Amino acid sequence: MQEIQSCPVCSKESFKEYLKVPDHFGSKEGFTLVKCCSCQTLSTTPQPDEKEIITYYKSNSYVSHGDSINPIFDFVYRTIQNRNLKYKRKLIERYTLGKNLLDYGCGSGTFLEYMNKQGWETKGIEPDENARQIAEEKGVKLTSLDQLNSEYDCITLFHVLEHVHKLKETIQTLIEHLSKNGVLMLALPNYNSRDAQQYREFWAGYDVPRHLYHFNQKSIFSLAKEFGLNIVSTHPLYFDSYYVSLLSEKYKNGKGNLIGAVKTGYLSNHSAKKTKEHSSLIYVLSK
Ligand SMILES: [Zn+2]
Repeated sequence: MQEIQSCPVCSKESFKEYLKVPDHFGSKEGFTLVKCCSCQTLSTTPQPDEKEIITYYKSNSYVSHGDSINPIFDFVYRTIQNRNLKYKRKLIERYTLGKNLLDYGCGSGTFLEYMNKQGWETKGIEPDENARQIAEEKGVKLTSLDQLNSEYDCITLFHVLEHVHKLKETIQTLIEHLSKNGVLMLALPNYNSRDAQQYREFWAGYDVPRHLYHFNQKSIFSLAKEFGLNIVSTHPLYFDSYYVSLLSEKYKNGKGNLIGAVKTGYLSNHSAKKTKEHSSLIYVLSK
């Protein structure tokens, strides 16, 4: 476990305590979120290192990596997922010319399997051995950061960057493998969203200690500046407010509260029409 010393985005060393958050999902251990006084990025502290964090992922219900065993939760998750697949593809196709895609943190390869069927050349990177196996069974081609040898028209990190230990090194390597007109797409929870403000320490978007950092639009602006990238556009992920609210209700009340979650999810999207602070945002970045 390592206490945060400097901001992972802007490297400044001045922090304010923001919120204490327990690991609702598994260990129940307590963590602190500290806010960078300069760029507003939140960091989880202390942080488990790359070996220590593995135990924090181990549970049947971590659906990002495998299959859920709760049928209702699973149904909701799959429904959201299917709608999201199409939405993400449409967005990617709006900003890219070629059809060469790298998905960093591809999990069990659902997105890449879908994109392959839509005529895309794809590669995935995924650290989790179980997820890799499932992806390969789907015919997804995998690679690793140090094996990258071509350029991509689009590199996606969907709810991944907040999990990455070597944040700057990873982004730098990915940018080097982005084609001249290529785009980097980051999907991230937004801690300025209405649902985050409502659920506070119960907000599932914090997901400590698996999420090492927590971004808002200002911190992504700083991140882009650090790497000389342009923010081309920002897009909402409408279903995330419902999904995150469902989980947050469970963390808060010990059981699912579908009506409460739907209400919060709806209110979050509704208020974001004015504030643009959706529960999760996709950032499109270019060189
Ligand atoms: Zn900072």
